[in-house]
Amino acid sequence: MNPAFHPELSAENEWRDIVQAAPAVCRAALAQLMAEQANTLADKFYSHMLGHPQAKVFLTAEVVNQRLHASMGRWLNEIFQHPPQEPATIVAHQRYVGEVHARIQLPLHLVSRGARLIKNDVRAGLSPKFDDPVLLAQAISFADRLIDLSLELMSVSYERSSQREARTDEAYRLFSIGQNVGVERERQRAVLMEWAHEVMMTLHRAIGNVTLPTLRQSEFGMWFNHKAVAMFEGDAAVDQILDIIERIDTTVLPLITPRDGRPFASDDRVAELQYEIDNLKFLLNNLFERHQEAENGRDVLTRLFNRRFLPAVISREIHVAQTRNSGFALMLLDLDHFKRVNDGYGHDVGDQVLQQAATLLMSCVRNGDFVFRYGGEELLVMLVEVSKESAMRVAELIRSKFESTPFQLGQGRTMNVTASIGVALYDGHPDHQYVLKRADTAMYEAKQSGRNRVIFSA
Ligand code: GH3
Ligand code: MG
Ligand code: MG
Repeated sequence: MNPAFHPELSAENEWRDIVQAAPAVCRAALAQLMAEQANTLADKFYSHMLGHPQAKVFLTAEVVNQRLHASMGRWLNEIFQHPPQEPATIVAHQRYVGEVHARIQLPLHLVSRGARLIKNDVRAGLSPKFDDPVLLAQAISFADRLIDLSLELMSVSYERSSQREARTDEAYRLFSIGQNVGVERERQRAVLMEWAHEVMMTLHRAIGNVTLPTLRQSEFGMWFNHKAVAMFEGDAAVDQILDIIERIDTTVLPLITPRDGRPFASDDRVAELQYEIDNLKFLLNNLFERHQEAENGRDVLTRLFNRRFLPAVISREIHVAQTRNSGFALMLLDLDHFKRVNDGYGHDVGDQVLQQAATLLMSCVRNGDFVFRYGGEELLVMLVEVSKESAMRVAELIRSKFESTPFQLGQGRTMNVTASIGVALYDGHPDHQYVLKRADTAMYEAKQSGRNRVIFSA
């Protein structure tokens, strides 16, 4: 492939070109400036931003202040490091920062504003370092170009991530408004039958020319063409159903329509319609069955929430916590030595144990809490509106229930299964990955310190 058309390669090349074009003395001066002043620059930047009402909302939480402040200093040192880092590493990191900004929904214009402030300060900081105005101009141009490119890379991944999050949010909204697939299925079956009934009634009443109602324009047809196509996107049955609808409207209906003195449709032609409708009902049933679990956002094995909704759920809870000043906790639970269950009793028994673990977990939490299947044998609970003390109490209760409950392996056999649990309380950081990572680290510590225990992330 022509490298010019490869966005990853071209960003790296561009980075490399900017660095190589700058005289070594300019690069060294910038690296030195950052070594001396990165923290001061970050300080100035934050005190300016805190005076900006919109920026303030994003930056006041203590933890953000500390972390973003530190990463701003690191960012300045990183991009101007001399000798420079590998462009691939730097470029990847700029993209990552863009993703973080997207997760915390930091408005892009604030990021640009920040860059503008920093550029001004860098210029001011460089000027006493050069006697030669040409070198000073080169150093300033180098700094500006690197900051601009960094910002551009952040913006691209910011947009990509935002779009991705918006899609998950939409999926989450669909399932959280309690759209019940079972009810929808019955409703659509009913409207399909209504249409068939209407066709038959029109035929029986027919005197002279009549127009039969098309399936495409029936309530069922409208639902299928708009909602179902989106809901069941990617399922082969969708196209098969669309074909049947088309065939009914363009082939079968014209055949049975009484017209120009032609007698009422013969029985075998009506039977053809019946045959297509039965076919359609069958495909529709299967379609609903396959998607029932997924559409409910549930994991098929455990019936717990699917992990893909996790970012949307945590982000929403972060928003609630910020506006209502309440808190939530994440509890990550990993079954201990689960491989031994599979190795000793087979994968199917392992699956049964997982189902029992999910049921046990569900029985320990409240209605408003969310329980997710996080990974293979890792389950995640979001405890809403809790304090540290109550989160720890629940975690300890769950740990002891696992320890004392005999898991059924079939044929009367049982075994004990324990779990290691990491708990993290939401601490004001707006990035949903952050609280998750803390729960994960705590769980890992629980494993390291002997399993079958609860560790709280400090
Ligand atoms: P520990 O977590 O205590 O360190 O030990 P472990 O044996 O649980 O280790 P690890 O987390 O590495 O292994 C998890 C195992 O869980 C691996 C995989 O075989 C099993 N597993 C993951 N998902 C499923 C599943 O859906 N069904 C079954 N039966 N087993 C699964
Ligand atoms: Mg595991
Ligand atoms: Mg495990």
